Amino acid sequence: MLDLAIIGGGPAGLTAGLYATRGGLKDVVMYEKGLPGGQITQSSEIENYPGIKEVVTGLELMEPWPEQCMRFGLRHEMAEVSRVTKEGESFKILLAGGKEELAKNVIVCTGSTPKRAGLKGEDTFYGKGVSNCATCDGFFYKDKEVAVLGGGDTALEEALYLANICSKVHVIHRRDTFRAAPNTVEKVKNNPKIELILNSTVEEIYGDAMGVNGVMIVDKSGKQRDLKVPGIFIFVGMNVNNEVLKQEDGTFLCQMSEWGEVVVDLSMNTSVPGLYAAGDIRIQAPKQVVCAAGDGAVAALQVVAKSH
Ligand code: FAD
Ligand code: NAP
Repeated sequence: MLDLAIIGGGPAGLTAGLYATRGGLKDVVMYEKGLPGGQITQSSEIENYPGIKEVVTGLELMEPWPEQCMRFGLRHEMAEVSRVTKEGESFKILLAGGKEELAKNVIVCTGSTPKRAGLKGEDTFYGKGVSNCATCDGFFYKDKEVAVLGGGDTALEEALYLANICSKVHVIHRRDTFRAAPNTVEKVKNNPKIELILNSTVEEIYGDAMGVNGVMIVDKSGKQRDLKVPGIFIFVGMNVNNEVLKQEDGTFLCQMSEWGEVVVDLSMNTSVPGLYAAGDIRIQAPKQVVCAAGDGAVAALQVVAKSH
């Protein structure tokens, strides 16, 4: 029986593991289906993590975390968790391969993943000109023109990153105001390599067997524009990764919001005692690395306090 199972190894899960083991919990396992680090490892730059003065990539930011967070005995099991259920006073963790583990406490830190926009051609050309990751794929478009869809922080930050590599970046946004931070919007507006195509949507991503050849855009008045670009980066928000909490009968293990986020209190307690949620998966998450890490620490300290 584990003292604590942590599901997800992003900033929230790693920090929860650090605080739990440093707080004296002995059997603590962090289940992470990939390499620890979380979604920030896809980001080309982060400049708002306190204590890191330089602008670094997400990978650079997260690189030292596993070593530090595992220093006090946290174990990382590279496995995907399929489901968490309640078993009497404890929890059953069902892994994708069928293995099961029991834990006295669980902190769910499964974060979020990029949404698809549901565009014609988006799935057909995914990985062949359609991408959600500028750091991963930007270099393929060196000195070429690309499109970026979205008006949030991710879209505009990644557009700035792409402008360093590509000859031109067309940012397509369905409104004329942005969700992104004003400072980022300003940087985008002042970048001569970025063209803003506002009040417009993408009708179709088209191409051939080799990949994308262009995107057909339409503005609010119905006027079409054929943008001949070999790549489009789609940043239209995130899905909450709440599947592990879904029970066989389709209900959730604990109370959820209408958008599928886990309802927690200020101590990261869910509606089920012993079950906590931290990071992007919880209600009202600011969706920031520093906040996810803070949540992880808060949740772990709750488990430590009740275990002593
Ligand atoms: P995540 O980082 O999403 O980690 C969740 C982890 O859980 C993942 O590693 C995933 O593999 C794992 N997982 C999921 N399901 C399972 C399962 N069933 N079994 C096992 N493992 C599972 N924030 C900032 O503060 N500053 C920025 O500049 C910034 N830039 C960003 C740029 C981009 C491109 C993106 C995408 C995000 C950015 N963010 C930024 C937001 C930040 O990355 C997130 O708020 C933060 O990573 C959330 O941490 P988390 O631990 O809650 O979840
Ligand atoms: P987001 O803030 O939800 O923005 C999504 C954008 O995509 C919005 O502009 C939205 O338009 C647009 N959109 C949504 N669906 C669309 C569709 N089907 N077709 C066309 N456009 C569509 O998502 P995000 O930018 O990924 O950010 C997620 C969270 O992470 C946010 O809370 C953000 O603040 C945070 N984040 C922070 C930083 C940072 O602090 N530096 C960096 C990255 C991310 P509308 O505006 O019209 O709805």
